[in-house]
Amino acid sequence: MFITLDEIFEEFEDLDPRDQSQYLLEIGYELPRFEDNQKRDEDLVHGCQSQVWLTAAPKDGAADPVLQISADSDAEIVRGLITILLASYEGLTASQVAAYPITDVFDRLHLRQYISPQRHNGLQGMVDRIRNSAIALSGTHSDVPKGEQAGVSVTVKESRAGAETDAPFDAESIRAEFPVLNQLIDGQRPIFLDSGASAQKPKAVIDKEREVQEGYFANAYRGRHAFGARIDEELEASRKRIAAFINAPSERQIVFTPGTTATLNMVAAGWGDRFTKPGDEILITEMEHHANFVPWQQLAKRAGATLRFIPLTNDGRLDMSRLDEVLSKKTRLVAVCGMSNVLGTVNPIAELTRAAHDVGAVIVVDGAQSVPHMTSDVQADDVDFLIFSGHKLYGPTGVGVLYGREDRLEEMEPVLFGGHMIDRVFKDHSTWAPPPAKFEAGTLPIVQAIALGTAVEWSQNVGIDRIHAHEQSLLQLAWDQLTAIPNMQIYGPGLEHRGGILSFRMHDVHPEDLAALLDRKAIMTRHGHHCAMPLHDLLGVSATTRTSFAAYNTAEDVSALVSAIMSARQILRRN
Ligand code: PMP
Repeated sequence: MFITLDEIFEEFEDLDPRDQSQYLLEIGYELPRFEDNQKRDEDLVHGCQSQVWLTAAPKDGAADPVLQISADSDAEIVRGLITILLASYEGLTASQVAAYPITDVFDRLHLRQYISPQRHNGLQGMVDRIRNSAIALSGTHSDVPKGEQAGVSVTVKESRAGAETDAPFDAESIRAEFPVLNQLIDGQRPIFLDSGASAQKPKAVIDKEREVQEGYFANAYRGRHAFGARIDEELEASRKRIAAFINAPSERQIVFTPGTTATLNMVAAGWGDRFTKPGDEILITEMEHHANFVPWQQLAKRAGATLRFIPLTNDGRLDMSRLDEVLSKKTRLVAVCGMSNVLGTVNPIAELTRAAHDVGAVIVVDGAQSVPHMTSDVQADDVDFLIFSGHKLYGPTGVGVLYGREDRLEEMEPVLFGGHMIDRVFKDHSTWAPPPAKFEAGTLPIVQAIALGTAVEWSQNVGIDRIHAHEQSLLQLAWDQLTAIPNMQIYGPGLEHRGGILSFRMHDVHPEDLAALLDRKAIMTRHGHHCAMPLHDLLGVSATTRTSFAAYNTAEDVSALVSAIMSARQILRRN
C-alpha cells in the first residue's frame, strides 16, 4: 500500500473539511487502477452511486489467511475512500478484518461530515462486501490446495434471502455488531434469549436511523426539496428491499404499518368487516398470539360469524388430518401464525393456503415470528396477506409490514383516513389513492421504515437461511441438554417441526422464580403466558419460561443457560 492509515490520520487532522475532500481525491488518483478485464460484473458492489469493483482473496494458505483486497471505481472520490479502506485492512487476516472496527476509522476522519449519505451507503456496501468475504474466509481455506488459492476472489453469492456461503457461521463476530451486547452487566456478558419478544439491533440499523435524523430528515411524499426527495428515495428503496425479501411481485404490495398487532386489526376491520357475513366462519388456531386471536374473535362478534379452531396434535402441531372437520365453504378467512411464539411450531402455510383457497377462503399469515427466522416466499406460498413487525427482525420498533395480494389490497377498505391516502376529497365523499398509499394515512414512521430496510439488508447480508440453520443448531444443542434435566417439560413438537423457540417448565419451579435467578447471571429469558392464554389453558399451565434464539446467540449462551438452570434448581431445592 502506498500510504498508511497513520499517514492518512495525520494529514486529515491538519485539513479543514473542504481540503479533506480535495485530499480524498488526491489519494484516489494514486490508487492503482484495474485493467478493463478486471472490472467484472460479479465483483460490482451494490448500493454505490458510482461503479465499484471489489475482490477479497486469501494471500496465503493459512487457516486464517491474510486478506488481499483490491478495488477500483470510476469516481476519484470513491477511489479515495477505497484507499482508506485498503490502508485500514492492510496486512490483517480474515478474522481480524471481520472483527475490525472500521466505523471508528470513519468517525476519526469525520467522514460523515463531508461525504453524502448516499456515498456513505456505498462505503457501507464496500465494508459489508469485505466483511462477508472475511467471514467466509476465516478458517475455511486450510484444506484448499495452495495453487488454487491465488487470485481466487471470494464469491458470497447474493440471493433474495441473502448470502450463500459454505463458511461456518461466526456468531461471535455477528454478536460484536450489536452494541447492546458489547457491555458487561454486573461484570457478566449479557445473554439475550428474549428475541421472540423483540430482537436487538445491529450497529448498521442504529447508524441508519442516525444518518436519516442527522442527514436529511423530512416528511415523506410531501416536500419537493432536497431532504424530502431523499427521504422518498430512501423509503421506496426500503419498500423495494422488503418486497424482494419476501418475494412480493411488487413493492406496491408492501404497506408500512405500525406493527403486527395494528396490521392484523387493520385487516380484520378493512377486509373482514367488508366480506364477513352472518353465518360465515373464521378459522384460527389455539396456538395464536392474542394479536392474531382477539381481532378475529371481535370480527366474528361484529359480523355474526363463528370462530373455529384447527385442532392441535398432542405435540403442538396443527392436526392437518382433521382440517376437513373445520374448513368448509362457510369459511371466509383462515388466520394462522407462520411460527408459534410459544411452541416454536412452524406451520405448513402453503398446504393451508391451498386448502383455504379450495373452499374460497382467504388466508392471513401472522409472520411476526417466522419472517425474521426463515425464508418467506409469498408467491410460492400464495398467501393473501402476510404481516410482520420490524422490531423482531433486527429493525426498529413502531414499524411493521402488511403484504397483500394485489386484488386483496384493492378490495380491502382503509381503516385510517386522512392525509396521503386520498385521491380526491369532496364535501360529501372521498376517493382513495391506490395501495400502498391507501393504507398509509398520515405521517409514516419514516425513520423506522427506512431503517427496517437496513435491517432486512443486514439479514440478507448474513443470509436468512444461514441464520435459520444457526438457530436450529442452537435449538438442537439446547434441546439435547434441557431434555436431560429431570422433571423438565418442553412444550411443542420435535426439532423438525419447530424454529428457534423453546418454552419449558420444570416441575415445582415457577417460571418467574427461574427467570429471576437466570437474570442474576445476565441471562434474559421471558416468562408468563406470552400473550397466548388460550394456548396455556390448553397446556394446563399458567406460565412457561421461553428462550428464543437469534443470529447473535452462541453455543456459549446455550451452555450458560443450561448451567444456570441447573444451579437454579439447586437453589430452589428441586434437585
Ligand atoms: N404475533 C406473534 C406470533 C407474536 O409473537 C407477536 C409479538 N410477541 C405479535 C403477533 C405481536 O407483534 P407486535 O407486538 O409487534 O404487534
